[in-house]
Amino acid sequence: MPAATGRRGHPRRVLAAGALGAAASYWTLMSPYSQRLGTFPYRGETTEPVVALTFDDGPNEPYTSRIAGFLSEAGAVATFFAVGACIERHPEAARRLLRDGHVLGSHGYSHRFERCAGRARLRDEIDRADEVFLGHLGIRPALFRPPWLLRTPALFELARERSLQLVSGEFAHVLEVFQPSPGRLARQAVGKARPGSILIFHDGFDAKGGDRGSTAGAVELVVRELSARGFGFTTVDRLLGVAPYREADGTREPAGSPTSRPLSLAAGPRRPPGTHVAC
Ligand SMILES: [Zn+2]
Repeated sequence: MPAATGRRGHPRRVLAAGALGAAASYWTLMSPYSQRLGTFPYRGETTEPVVALTFDDGPNEPYTSRIAGFLSEAGAVATFFAVGACIERHPEAARRLLRDGHVLGSHGYSHRFERCAGRARLRDEIDRADEVFLGHLGIRPALFRPPWLLRTPALFELARERSLQLVSGEFAHVLEVFQPSPGRLARQAVGKARPGSILIFHDGFDAKGGDRGSTAGAVELVVRELSARGFGFTTVDRLLGVAPYREADGTREPAGSPTSRPLSLAAGPRRPPGTHVAC
């Protein structure tokens, strides 16, 4: 029979080790900031007062078009990491984004977690989304943001094979999924803005649509406040100095439009990681 003394702390040590292991796994696989598995830029390195607003999980009407309306009125451009299944649902909203001068990146086809874990399923997610982008919009995005920011070694291999630029960012509000008021959402987003920031908003939710009224309202406030502070708005490809789209055969188009500026990538975390609920 084991002695009682000396073993009281053992379950706590096991729990502590488990918590540390979970934290390490989160940091490596899902943190916006970890570069452990490969380059995953969450900002562009610049001293110019410019930020890239990004929107995931759409198109999702009427919110995507509402956001596009605010951006258009302000003369601002953004990057939309669209889901293939959502483009099939709202192709006209996606076309409007392109017409307005925004850049579309890929966020996979279904946004289902189990489709992002294995290599074969992830490859199918990427390729099926590519077919939707090409069929409905005539483009092949070169920018890819994995759902939930989930990274595996397979993702980096596939990104190399498919000439994709992986993109992270900073969550505009840690609880955006619960749709806090536009004012609260905007305050946190504006507080995070620095030269070169890539801010993550959601115009949809998990490829299922849903109410994103607070996000849409916050975008108007964020654009107004950041403009008043002297910030400009750019797209992720320009911020990172990469091409936004690939040729039809999958190779990258040459980077650089007249307004493009090559910028080196941030090498590592600039601040402690925050927590988030969904991406
Ligand atoms: Zn997402």
